[in-house]
Amino acid sequence: MMNTSNMDPENINIITIDGPAGSGKSTIAKMLAKELGLIYIDTGAMYRALTLLALKNNIDLNDEKSILLAADKSILEFDNSVGDINKYTKVLLNGKDITLDIRSKKVGEAVSIVSKLSKIRKYLVKLQREMASKSPCVLEGRDTGSVVCPSAICKIYLTASIEERVKRREKQLCENNQLLSKEQIKCEIESRDRIDSSRQDSPLIVPDGSAVIDTSCMSINDVFSSIKKIYNGKINLYKKINHQV
Ligand code: C5P
Repeated sequence: MMNTSNMDPENINIITIDGPAGSGKSTIAKMLAKELGLIYIDTGAMYRALTLLALKNNIDLNDEKSILLAADKSILEFDNSVGDINKYTKVLLNGKDITLDIRSKKVGEAVSIVSKLSKIRKYLVKLQREMASKSPCVLEGRDTGSVVCPSAICKIYLTASIEERVKRREKQLCENNQLLSKEQIKCEIESRDRIDSSRQDSPLIVPDGSAVIDTSCMSINDVFSSIKKIYNGKINLYKKINHQV
């Protein structure tokens, strides 16, 4: 029987995109948000921001209480609008632009340690759900379709070969004037994948009911068209169920 639990009106405007690093999530999520007039919630930027906060304050990366205390004393702002799809989500910490700081090698190496912590996840998932409840959105991350918004109308899981993911990450870093060797990038991606997929709380999984797309041999426009087709199919089904067509 068809599962229509995600056909409630409050889920109709939520799309989730999950997958490992470099699978093409960010670009696709921003393209979708732009085309459909949705906000873009970059959940990875939120884990990165708390990681930077811990590093800046010399807090042990496993000390979730102290990290959350520092977060409570700070003002973190995330710009969920989409301008240039090649640009990162703008993030401010106490008014200072940390958009590029959260993309540093140091943060990249530490973020999976911080994102393993249950109290950190609980804190950020609450924020993410609040954001998603305020505005139609595309959520991008590792657990957005499995934990944050499991009832989203359209759930996508993107993946790609490690070689392709390294190539894409290298291009993205290069566009933002951040130079790392292929070997360094591969090492970071593999290490993050390992930790993200094996952690106890909200590991990276293919969420129930999501469409899986291997983007290794696809152009970004092909991925975009496939997802739009899936999304439109869901919307038409929603309208049919609700006798709007
Ligand atoms: O997407 P991005 O590569 O910026 O994510 C950085 C890290 O944040 C991931 O490797 C993962 O450890 C963590 N993350 C997470 N859950 C999310 C999004 C990101 O654990 N929903």
